[in-house]
Amino acid sequence: MNVLRRLQDYYWEKKTYMFVSILFLAIATALGLVYPKLLQILIDDVITPRNFELVPQLALAVVGVVTLKAIMQFLHGFFGARLGNFLAYRLRNACYEKLQFLSFRYYDTARTGDLMSRLTGDLEAIRLFIGFGFAQILNLFLMVGFGAAMMLSINWQLTLWTLITIPPLVFVAIRFESRIHPAFQEMRLALGSLTTAVQENVTGVRTVKAFAREPHEVGKFSLRNDRYKDNQLHASGLWSRYFPVMELLASGCAVLLLGVGGTMVIRGTLTIGELVAFFSLIWYIIGPMWGLGFHINNYTQSEASGERVLGILDRPIDVRDKENALALDPETVRGQVTFEKVGFAYGNKLHAVHDINLDAPPGKVIGLLGGTGAGKSTIIQLLMRAYDVTEGSIKFDGVDIRDLRVEDLRGQIATVFQETFLFSSTIKGNIGYGMNDVPMEDIVRAAKLAKAHDFIMEMKEGYDTVVGERGMGLSGGQKQRIAIARALLKNPKILILDDATSAVDMETEHEIQAGFQEVMKGRTTFIIAHRISSLRHADEILVLNEGHIVQRGRHEQLIAEPGPYQEVYNIQYADHIARTAEDEEGRGSL
Ligand code: ADP
Repeated sequence: MNVLRRLQDYYWEKKTYMFVSILFLAIATALGLVYPKLLQILIDDVITPRNFELVPQLALAVVGVVTLKAIMQFLHGFFGARLGNFLAYRLRNACYEKLQFLSFRYYDTARTGDLMSRLTGDLEAIRLFIGFGFAQILNLFLMVGFGAAMMLSINWQLTLWTLITIPPLVFVAIRFESRIHPAFQEMRLALGSLTTAVQENVTGVRTVKAFAREPHEVGKFSLRNDRYKDNQLHASGLWSRYFPVMELLASGCAVLLLGVGGTMVIRGTLTIGELVAFFSLIWYIIGPMWGLGFHINNYTQSEASGERVLGILDRPIDVRDKENALALDPETVRGQVTFEKVGFAYGNKLHAVHDINLDAPPGKVIGLLGGTGAGKSTIIQLLMRAYDVTEGSIKFDGVDIRDLRVEDLRGQIATVFQETFLFSSTIKGNIGYGMNDVPMEDIVRAAKLAKAHDFIMEMKEGYDTVVGERGMGLSGGQKQRIAIARALLKNPKILILDDATSAVDMETEHEIQAGFQEVMKGRTTFIIAHRISSLRHADEILVLNEGHIVQRGRHEQLIAEPGPYQEVYNIQYADHIARTAEDEEGRGSL
């Protein structure tokens, strides 16, 4: 019952529901024992001595017991459901909240499908177990205990004969559980891979079609579907064998009882009424054994589900506020960023960046250039404290960012990522993401600066147009412009443009950058770019290679000295010249 203990914080507040629900179930079970007794009385005291005046009282007693038992069962269900739902509600909220605050390091390895199943299937298993399963297991013991006690009070020899049949029943139940449990796990895995195939297929439908790989996808799905079907057949085969075997054993028990009990009746050591009562009472023993496999299975599954949900809740947060973290006053923030001998490695990998030194005075523009994997994004991630540095320190207005409140620091930074994520909401909602009561003029102003206003106005619903979860219906450049508007609206002290204009054409890039000149005033800006044209006006350009700064300076300075910057410049410049020449040739031949 480890899972019950570890989840205690989330349901203990409603512990009364738990106790009351168990109590009502126990009363219902105890009331069930009255039937065999009434049967015994009916046969021994009414039918045999032909004492029929007792019939109305007995009938009344049966009605009374049935009604009371039904009420008790209803109350058990009512409080069990309340407890389970309360717990599931608290756990859902707690998990979601935790997921918001878990660091990037967690998401580097987390899988969406896995997280979704923890928040749905696993939570449901916990809800059912805490709400009902736990009480049912306790009730199992109560039934056997009550039943055996009642049997003993009637005839101890016959009770012992009945109890002989328990070991084979328990054996079959436990053996069944040990086989159905892995079968269920297999089935769940197979279902997981089936749903992953569907999810990936829908997400990557463009790639599938572009490569004409539909038959491959159909084949892949059908293999997984076959596996799922085989698993299902195996599990249902186990179920279909279990019940007949249990029934056979239960019937064996009844036959034994009839033989031994019948002999006792003939010898006069047992009344017929007592034998009939025994017959109803054996279900108090056989019934729980029947359900034993199911309950053990339910328990182990809930324990596994509990572990998986607690795996989220107990996960430590890597990047978090220190105890006396400093708050930033938006009025006095300047936006100076300093990197001092910064080094960082992801997990146990080699260093992603090494010995990075940089000083970005307020309002200055820093450009970052380098090939894929050079460490540009890592520098930006460290600045926004997605990860904490492993060596050196980063300072914001002279204070180590690890001493600042994470929320305050990130509140001063707006990033436009290369990959734009749009939420399934309106364009207005996407630009003003997470901000309450933003005046429409501010949204429009940001959109105009990001050169997004015109295409938004061309849409039928304008700013109220709903965009899909992946921003369907908008071009890459349009999505990026919405993301730029979102960043500008935040009015940050630090602006990070992570290859932000890669999806727009040169002309638009110029336009957006002209807009940026205006909004960059008074903000420290970091630009990651592949095109040298985006970095021309930077106050300092850092050229990175394999995590090291290999060159630094202004554009004019860097093109004049031999090195990687000049090489990139020459390639891009040569490209430009070649294209201009081709254009002219093309025009000449027309
Ligand atoms: P760039 O932005 O210049 O393309 P990155 O900063 O993304 O380069 O990557 C620098 C190095 O760190 C690369 O070797 C890359 O493989 C590694 N890296 C980047 N992100 C992660 C991550 N989340 N987990 C592990 N390694 C990473």
